[in-house]
Amino acid sequence: MQMEHTIIVGGGPCGLSAAIELQRKNIIPLIIEKENIVNTIYNFPTHQTFFSTSDRLEIGDRMFITEKQKPVRMEALTYYRTVAEREKIRINPYEKVIEIEKQDDTFFVKSQKTTGETQEIQEYQAENVIIASGYYDHPNWLNVPGEEKQKVVHYFKEGHPYFNKDVVVIGGKNSAVDATMELHKAGARITVLYRGSSYSKSIKPWILPDFDSLIRKNIVTMEFNAQVNEIKDDAVVYTVNGETKQIKNDYVFAMTGYRPDHQFLKNTGIYINEEDGRPYFNEQTMETNIPGIYVAGVITSGYNNNIIFIENGRDHGKLIAEAIQNKK
Ligand code: FAD
Ligand code: NAP
Repeated sequence: MQMEHTIIVGGGPCGLSAAIELQRKNIIPLIIEKENIVNTIYNFPTHQTFFSTSDRLEIGDRMFITEKQKPVRMEALTYYRTVAEREKIRINPYEKVIEIEKQDDTFFVKSQKTTGETQEIQEYQAENVIIASGYYDHPNWLNVPGEEKQKVVHYFKEGHPYFNKDVVVIGGKNSAVDATMELHKAGARITVLYRGSSYSKSIKPWILPDFDSLIRKNIVTMEFNAQVNEIKDDAVVYTVNGETKQIKNDYVFAMTGYRPDHQFLKNTGIYINEEDGRPYFNEQTMETNIPGIYVAGVITSGYNNNIIFIENGRDHGKLIAEAIQNKK
């Protein structure tokens, strides 16, 4: 069994940042990542522009220089790859952590490694574990009939396939607005169904005017106070203020946000606050209720995707590195 000082679950920006901060304290961790590094950013909409300026996405004080103030997805992928390489971060990609068990003061970490077509179980021992597995793999389900249909997705990539098609976007924050703008550019006919009664304050102020203009000009239909009841093969049924409506539909983008993998956390023994979905952790050290297990990045945000970002989640690594060093 491989012995490690610290294992980091997840090689997103915040897991990478934690690795660098530990390395700066002469602790060499191992990142175990189920796909490849910054997999969430890889899965972003193809033409995503970050809302953050590039300096706010930097990790380990490595400069992120971009032509425009706000980077696009491809630039971020290049940046984080380069940083991982320059910092010589140890990463086991295509390995999914499936179990973390504590016996006395040691953690036994089990993962499933994929190489080509084969899969095998790997086992490690570690003194500390940092869980930085994000939330993007776990969308908030609508729990309505028809959600399982192939035409319903919780991720948006590009607008082109939806040219001249009837598309419903569900949700009213940044992913819903961004997807609508891209779908509009590609010539889709769009209805946005939002459960709120007015525009969300979370919408980035610089994207709202263009979106609002499409609504005002009736180019995009927006229904506030809309509750989706059912997704049929060729229609979406919803209710607005007690009135049930049905619209013709080819595709649904349910941009309803994401949540951490609560089952994984609970299986590990970490307490979850059922109200806000946040794992229990000490804000000064990021240590959970299980001594030696820490959380970093957006996994700490629970149900609210609008409190922790790369901008502040990148700082968790420093707190954890301090705490682990002090423990030593
Ligand atoms: P992630 O980047 O999600 O990394 C988690 C990693 O863990 C993933 O690579 C995943 O594959 C891996 N993983 C999960 N489970 C396991 C497992 N069991 N075993 C091994 N590996 C596992 N934030 C900003 O600050 N600025 C922005 O401009 C910004 N733009 C965004 C745009 C979009 C479209 C979205 C969706 C989010 C954006 N965010 C932004 C929010 C957030 O900062 C990002 O989602 C960011 O990727 C979170 O970093 P993280 O390291 O915490 O988690
Ligand atoms: P989000 O901010 O969590 O928004 C989800 C939306 O779906 C909200 O409007 C929410 O309604 C609605 N919703 C949630 N559950 C629902 C349900 N069961 N039924 C109906 N509606 C439901 O998620 P997001 O927009 O995907 O954003 C995720 C993260 O990515 C955020 O951090 C965001 O800032 C970031 N992001 C950034 C960019 C960018 O950088 N340009 C672009 C997109 C996203 P309520 O409003 O009532 O809560």
